[in-house]
Amino acid sequence: MTDRFAIFGRPLDHSKSPQIYQTFARQFGIDLDYQKIETSDQGFAAAFGTFCKSGVKGGNVTAPFKVMAYEAAARKMPRAAAAGAVNCYKVKDGEVVVENFDGLGLVADIERNLGFPLAGKDVLLLGAGGAARGAILPFLDSRPSSLVLTNRTPAKAHALAARFSPHGAIEVRDYDALADVSFDIVVNATSASLSGKCPAVPDTVFRRGGLAYELFYGEGLTPFLTLASRSGAKLAHGVGMLVEQAAEAFNWWYGKRPDTKDMIQMLSVPLSAQPR
Ligand code: NDP
Repeated sequence: MTDRFAIFGRPLDHSKSPQIYQTFARQFGIDLDYQKIETSDQGFAAAFGTFCKSGVKGGNVTAPFKVMAYEAAARKMPRAAAAGAVNCYKVKDGEVVVENFDGLGLVADIERNLGFPLAGKDVLLLGAGGAARGAILPFLDSRPSSLVLTNRTPAKAHALAARFSPHGAIEVRDYDALADVSFDIVVNATSASLSGKCPAVPDTVFRRGGLAYELFYGEGLTPFLTLASRSGAKLAHGVGMLVEQAAEAFNWWYGKRPDTKDMIQMLSVPLSAQPR
């Protein structure tokens, strides 16, 4: 019997999810069908509801539907509830259950694959959109020495810091208040790279021997990574996060955690200054 899954998002032409999950399924001899479903904002609730009622096992949700799927679901797992946004769902006993594995995938990549434990480190998170929301709780759970959040629209960073304050301390700083501080780990969770831009961060935020992590992936050195490359920080892009969050999702669906190393290698675009 074939297990059916789908990712909802827009656009999805470049989504690697079908390839990733098909490869994971082959590791366990599972027969899996994984579709891409693009829909309008107005059409999302009906399309998602119809798919979930058609005998499917689950799937993923990406921009711009991460909040809409959260709102549509009958049951929200604690990480999803904390973030108010989801990237994964399953249908269990006829009920749609949603989860958010983005942050867990990011932490797994930073700590396990790249060898930078967050505990005791000074961490700067840039951006306060969907990806940052998913990252904050797993970051705080990893016990960094400090977590600073910076966003172009400061009010959104303050709102996120307030939302997550029961889970740990978050300091909000504006971009122009970053000139006198540096960090062990700097994570670019803005979408600036999508338009070839760099968030307005000074190059002094990167510590030599630290890590500069770009969530955007697929195009090698982005302006953010180019800036960081001058500082002697290790550079990384978000392919590892993408594959690790998918492995967490697969484990949630099947209770089996796939091996991720080959898939990360296969999807990685070399960063010309520094291979992954
Ligand atoms: P959102 O649209 O939800 O949020 C975008 C964020 O980027 C906002 O905080 C916005 O600030 C900020 N921003 C946009 N342009 C600029 C700019 N020029 N300078 C500074 N800040 C800017 O996006 P997501 O959170 O969903 O995605 C963020 C990035 O993460 C994308 O590049 C996406 O591809 C990547 N991503 C990667 C994943 C992976 O698995 N590797 C998973 C999910 C996302 P403001 O609030 O002021 O508008």
